Amino acid sequence: MPHNWSALERELREFLPRKSIVTKRQELLVYDCDGLTIDRHSPPIAVLPETTLEVAQVVACCNKHEVPFVARGSGTGLSGGALVDQEALLVVTSRMRKILEIDLENHLVTVQPGVINSWVTKAVAGEGFYYAPDPSSQIVCSIGGNIAENSGGVHCLKYGVTSNHVLGLEVVLPDGTITNFGGSLSETSELDLRGAFIGSEGTLGIATSITLRLLRSPEKVIVFLADFSSIESAGEAVRLVTASGLVPAGMEIMDNFMINAVNDLFGVDEYPRDASAVLLIEIDGQTKEVLVAADKAIKLCKRAGAREIKRAESPIDRNRLWKGRKSAFAAVGQISSTYFVQDGVVPRSSLPKVLAAIECLSIKHKLPVANVFHAGDGNLHPLILYEAGVENIEERVRALGSEILRECLAVGGSITGEHGVGADKRCYMEWMFSNDDLETMQLLRKAFDPFRLANPGKIFPTPRTCGESARKKVFLSKDQGILSSEIDAF
Ligand SMILES: Cc1cc2nc3c(=O)[nH]c(=O)nc-3n(C[C@H](O)[C@H](O)[C@H](O)COP(=O)(O)OP(=O)(O)OC[C@H]3O[C@@H](n4cnc5c(N)ncnc54)[C@H](O)[C@@H]3O)c2cc1C
Repeated sequence: MPHNWSALERELREFLPRKSIVTKRQELLVYDCDGLTIDRHSPPIAVLPETTLEVAQVVACCNKHEVPFVARGSGTGLSGGALVDQEALLVVTSRMRKILEIDLENHLVTVQPGVINSWVTKAVAGEGFYYAPDPSSQIVCSIGGNIAENSGGVHCLKYGVTSNHVLGLEVVLPDGTITNFGGSLSETSELDLRGAFIGSEGTLGIATSITLRLLRSPEKVIVFLADFSSIESAGEAVRLVTASGLVPAGMEIMDNFMINAVNDLFGVDEYPRDASAVLLIEIDGQTKEVLVAADKAIKLCKRAGAREIKRAESPIDRNRLWKGRKSAFAAVGQISSTYFVQDGVVPRSSLPKVLAAIECLSIKHKLPVANVFHAGDGNLHPLILYEAGVENIEERVRALGSEILRECLAVGGSITGEHGVGADKRCYMEWMFSNDDLETMQLLRKAFDPFRLANPGKIFPTPRTCGESARKKVFLSKDQGILSSEIDAF
């Protein structure tokens, strides 16, 4: 093994306090997977820096010893992005949780990368502001992870995903250099590299400070819960609302399996148990505009076949309606301790067709699937339930997951909406992109990281199969220089 771990560890101890270096096997177990629990591999060493300078020193050390490194925020990623699937140093940002500056006059906040998503809104809510991107994991996931995955959430239908809310990034590049992309202005005069970094899944460096845009809290918010006797009718309601020109803040669908799972979790029948699907719609803005839009949305839901519509205006009532949706994954966790969350996108008009196809695939593979999804942007999250330990179960789960993605692509969709490619989906990149596309992406990556030390083994497919590559260890040496395209795609 070319990596000189003992020399690296010795050097790390020269500038990091003892508490910031984890080497004991049992302590490293907490980092052996992220939200994609089907793949596990503990890192040889994890470090927990507290400052940008410490991150830069760690990364420079990795560069010197040719050791790859993987950034990790809260480990809630669902595509194995923070998985150390080759020998690499894990750089955990959970001690970088300071809100560095709040500038309400300019609607900005600057945070360290380990800050939890929901803390940003909590810090400014009293002043009438909020941070819009709201992944359902927002009470635990980090802003650094959100940047790396370009995360979405319920409100991204109207307000856009993470990349629409980031003005500036301080980044440690894979050679240990500290640099800045953007700043505190929306427009920059230099080449705008924020867009390249956001969504690059930790493969271009580590974000160490992030300046985010804050929005004014809306004057009025109304949430509806419409229930339907078929999932197709719920899909039709989404189509009608969108076609009418209304732009709700969020539109989410849960199927019957999920409805019952969340009712069971809370012991309250908040959602009608016999409904085939429920549709949650949130409308926000100026009071008059919201009231008019709400009436229109109700009429459209009824036209699509809604049986009953609940309406919530006070924060308590709205939270009650949202609670089930926000706890959907936890509810499934009560039924099955292991599940696999797929993430695909389809054009909204194809929702009914693809949902029907998923149901057939679930029967074909004899694996239950629960559906909860960001219906407004056609972002599906089928949850495949399985029992760990059953022979060949991982292969069966992956086979079903990949066939679901085939269905998404067949209607012009995408292999990921918001959970990223990570280790899990790199083998599907070739289904969507040509070799030229992939080579071009590699050129950008190499410009940042010629020796591929930052989160290797993610995003890009191997020349062979996915399963094979996921277990293969690949080591590159600086002596090999910039690598040729045959071995590029590891
Ligand atoms: C219950 C549940 C619900 C979820 N709901 C949503 C949802 O609604 N929308 C959505 O988009 N996602 C959702 N996710 C997925 C996940 O929460 C997001 O991808 C989130 O952004 C990951 O943040 P994290 O801090 O956990 O990152 P991690 O899992 O720790 O890391 C994710 C990736 O980011 C990289 N990374 C982490 N920090 C940095 C950094 N500082 N600099 C550079 N790279 C870094 C890692 O290397 C890795 O590739 C959900 C997950 C769960 C478990």
